[in-house]
Amino acid sequence: MTDERSAADVFGLLADETRVEILRAVAVAQYELAGVGSGPAELAFSEIYEHVPVENTSKLSYHLGELVGTYLRKGDDGYSLSHAGERIVRFILSGNYERPASVGPEPVAGVCVFCGAEALEASLDHQFFRVDCTACETQVAGHPVTPAQVRRRDADDLVRSVTLRSAEDYRQIRRGLCPECGGDLSTEVVHLPGSPLPDADPFLAKSDCAACLREYNSPLTYSVAYHPASIAFHWDRGVDVTTKAVWEFHEHVREGRWTSERVADDPPAYEAVLRRGDDAVRLRLDSSATVTRTERVRRESGDLPRS
Ligand SMILES: [Zn+2]
Ligand SMILES: [Zn+2]
Repeated sequence: MTDERSAADVFGLLADETRVEILRAVAVAQYELAGVGSGPAELAFSEIYEHVPVENTSKLSYHLGELVGTYLRKGDDGYSLSHAGERIVRFILSGNYERPASVGPEPVAGVCVFCGAEALEASLDHQFFRVDCTACETQVAGHPVTPAQVRRRDADDLVRSVTLRSAEDYRQIRRGLCPECGGDLSTEVVHLPGSPLPDADPFLAKSDCAACLREYNSPLTYSVAYHPASIAFHWDRGVDVTTKAVWEFHEHVREGRWTSERVADDPPAYEAVLRRGDDAVRLRLDSSATVTRTERVRRESGDLPRS
């Protein structure tokens, strides 16, 4: 589908208080009207007129005409939000254009993946959540946050919310879905020469979204940590890996419990091994970091080579 309109035209449509009020009124009215199991309600012209301060019906009619097609849909029973209308109005209602309060530095559990020190601190930097090692002064994790996510949360709650969102993002990324825009991701396994990552896991899963240009990088073992085989393996051992933040994985790589290696060249294949106690889960990946095979291994049976 091609669209001839420029982004400036599309956003220019919103440079008008009445139109923003119309979108807000539609969202609020839909929220109040929608019953469980019903789709989003369409709002009749007269209902919108009641809720929007506009001089007369012909002015309202003009503004609605400008919004329909981009921000509103017109159906048999009235108006509802389009995808762009949804995104814009949620953005406005959540106040996510405001500046978030500053947070931290707040100590968090875990060790530095680069130097092994237990000296991690979380903070907000230019509206970006980051975890830094205070011993070697290196950033060890980062995740975008929204002002709505920061508002009314103390530092502990914010860390928990980032952990949850990042675990959910990893699960979507692993399935080739861009968490930001829903576009297709292309992923490749890369080995960065001179990478500061520990030798135990020298590979990165590198994903790019051609639609919105977001990039996502993670050590190969982290990219499989939220795979169902890993979730089940850890769950059986009393660990809910889906509630763990990526910086809590660092110690596993540092101490060589989580490892990755290239096991074939043509076509390239990789193996990630996540060990816990005497057991391990082994995941085979192709060059697009897709898991092609999983198996659980009991180390005492002797068939898991220690790396
Ligand atoms: Zn460090
Ligand atoms: Zn995207």
